[in-house]
This record gives sequence, C-alpha cells and structure tokens, in this order.
Amino acid sequence: MNKKLAILGSTGSIGNQALEVVDENPGLFSVSILTANNNAGLLIKQALKYKPREVVIANSQKYGQVKAVLEKEGISVSSGMGALQQVVQRDDVDMVVAAMVGYAGLLPVISAVKAGKNIALANKETLVVAGDLITQLCHGNNVSLLPVDSEHSAIFQCLVGEAKNSIEKILLTCSGGPFREYPREKLETVDAKQALVHPNWNMGNKITIDSATLMNKGFEVIEARWLFGIQPEKIEVVVHPQSVVHSMVQFTDGSVKAQMGPPDMRFPIQYALCYPERVSNSFPRFSFNGNTALTFHSPDTNIFRNLALAYEALSKGGNYACILNAANEVVVDAFLHNKIGFLQMSDVIEQTMSKIAYIAKPSIEDYIACDREARVKARELIF
Ligand code: NDP
Repeated sequence: MNKKLAILGSTGSIGNQALEVVDENPGLFSVSILTANNNAGLLIKQALKYKPREVVIANSQKYGQVKAVLEKEGISVSSGMGALQQVVQRDDVDMVVAAMVGYAGLLPVISAVKAGKNIALANKETLVVAGDLITQLCHGNNVSLLPVDSEHSAIFQCLVGEAKNSIEKILLTCSGGPFREYPREKLETVDAKQALVHPNWNMGNKITIDSATLMNKGFEVIEARWLFGIQPEKIEVVVHPQSVVHSMVQFTDGSVKAQMGPPDMRFPIQYALCYPERVSNSFPRFSFNGNTALTFHSPDTNIFRNLALAYEALSKGGNYACILNAANEVVVDAFLHNKIGFLQMSDVIEQTMSKIAYIAKPSIEDYIACDREARVKARELIF
C-alpha cells in the first residue's frame, strides 16, 4: 500500500501523531497535503520534511511567510477556507485525515466526501454539527468514515465480524477528566490552567477543556450515534479513570467485548490509516503486570451538565447539536481567556439552545446560518 494522505490540521496534536505514524511505516504512506491555521513555522518544517505537493495555511496573514520558503521547493502554497475545500479533492489524495479542530473541519470534510475520498476522522465536531447529512453523503459517495477517536476506534474494532442487530448497547468509556472527583463548590473556582492538565492524554487546548467539562464525552455520544447508526438510549457512558479500556460493546447474548491499549492516540490513528490491515509498530505496549486496578463508575450529570445537554441535543435532533457545538466553541474560548467560569459554560450553552429556532431537517446552508446565529447568541449571553 502507498496511501496518499491529505492531513488537515497537521500542526496539531493529532496531525503530529499522524505524521509519527507515517514515520513508523516507511513505504506505506506518502503525504500529498499538509494544512495549518496559524503555525507557519511548524507547517514549513513539516513540508520540508514530507515534501507534499501542496500546503494550505488557513490564516491569509501567514500566506506570504509560507510561500516565501516553500514555493522555491516546488510546493504549492494556498490560503483560506476555499483552498482547504479544494485541496482535499486533488487526484493525488487517497485519504483525508481530518485533524482540524472545531466547526472549521465541516466544509473541508464535506468537500472530500463529495470527491469520494475516504476519511480518517478525528474532527468529531463535523459529526456533532451535521451527522445526519455527513453519513448520508458518505453513503451516497461510497466513502468510508474511519474513526480516529480512541473510543470509536475501540467500538469499530469490537464490531468487526458482528451483525449490527446483535448490539445491545455501546459502553463509551470516559476518563472523567482532571475534575472527576471535584464537588460542585470546588468547580466554581477552577480556571483554565487547571483544566488544561489532563490526567491521561496530551491533546489540543479545546478538546482538553471539553474533556474537563465532559462535553467531549457528550460529543462522542453523538459521534457514536452517527458512526454506528445506534440510537442514543443504547449508548451508555462509563467513567474509567485509567483510560486503558477504550470502549466496549455489549451484545444481545450478554457478552461484552472491550478494546484495550495504552492511552496513546498513535494506535487508533494507525488503525484508521491502515484499515482494514493491521500493521506492526514499535509503539510502547500495555503491561498488565504494572496496572493492577481498572475501575468503572457512572458519570455525575448533575455536576457535569454538558453530558446531559449533549444527550438532549441528540434526542431533539435537527439543528440542536449544531447549536450545542457553536455555543460550546464560544464558551470554551471565553473560559480559556478567563471571561467565564467553569460552571457558567453549561448555563450559556443551555440558554443558547433555548433561543435558536428548531429546524427538523437542516440543509448545509441551514447549518452554516445556525452556527453563526448560535455564536452571536452565546456571545451576547457572556458579554
Ligand atoms: P489541536 O488544537 O492540537 O490542533 C488543531 C489543528 O487544526 C492545528 O493544526 C490547527 O492549526 C488547525 N486549525 C485550527 N483552527 C483552524 C481553522 N480555523 N482552519 C484551519 N485549520 C485550523 O487539536 P487536536 O489535534 O487536539 O484535535 C483535533 C481534532 O481531533 C479535534 O476535533 C479533537 O476533538 C479531535 N481529537 C483529538 C484527540 C487528541 O488526542 N488530541 C483525540 C480524539 C479526537 P494551527 O496549529 O496552525 O493552529
């Protein structure tokens, strides 16, 4: 196999680890496209090493800096959202690794799906915002949507060889984040610095805050609903602080399959990139001797209300999860800039969800308008 990759968000946590997977498997992959938003320095460094055909720097102010170095190396440079949507359609791309963060991933993924490119999906927000539309598009264009998220990769692996109607429920594991044992009073004063210290995973800032509030788990419930075509009442979240069991599937005969491994995103990234093959690697292995306790318990959705809000958005359907996502992006940014408290984030999301008109079957234009409107409302509620 020589799979030609477009890595969207190559300068981020997942993007960098995807490139480590490329390094680990010489000859299996080549890199056709790399993209970033602001980090021109790292994008240039990556491009000089991997020699892609084209790079995109989304922030047009950085375009000149990137172009000055890379064009003389024969690498095309472009900028902006339109360029991101175009590069994924190139003939020299077999698979798109969607590793951008947030809503910004939506349109490039849609464009890639329309061009028939298989997707290794880390950008869960794409499925949160428009899961119905994306899964229909994938179906219509014969595109495989391969999960990169460790939980969804685990479920995907547990389902190999199983009939869909044999699933009783999905057990989505959750580390509980840095505030797992905090009472409500203590959460009133936590700040971004504390929230950015995740006990098990080293990730980008936005997903790290989402993990602390359990919005990340709420998003993953929505992601699982669309990836596996499972109704929300069959998706249960289980807190598992060690992050060794990446998720489980319980079948109609009562058997439970779990997928396990070290908390290292390179494993699920490699699984998605190499699927359907399993390929050897030298990444560190999990040791059962050094880990004596694997524990499990229910999440507290009275304290971590974002998880309940995500279930609510999913059960209401239509544009509700799009509103949830937009409001969440606004509050996370405000929290990172010390403009809002930890617990207030859920208040703003809930109020935003109550203020935007419901659309039962949104089109892509509806999603774009809804995202914009929800951001305005959420900002009004904060400032
Ligand atoms: P990071 O913040 O580390 O990286 C985000 C990447 O997206 C960077 O390359 C960034 O560029 C780029 N980017 C950000 N905003 C834009 C924009 N507006 N337009 C174009 N590019 C943009 O995030 P992560 O790698 O942690 O997460 C990426 C996605 O993967 C998220 O959806 C997250 O939920 C998901 N995920 C992450 C996991 C992890 O372990 N990190 C685990 C499972 C899922 P620049 O560097 O220039 O800012």
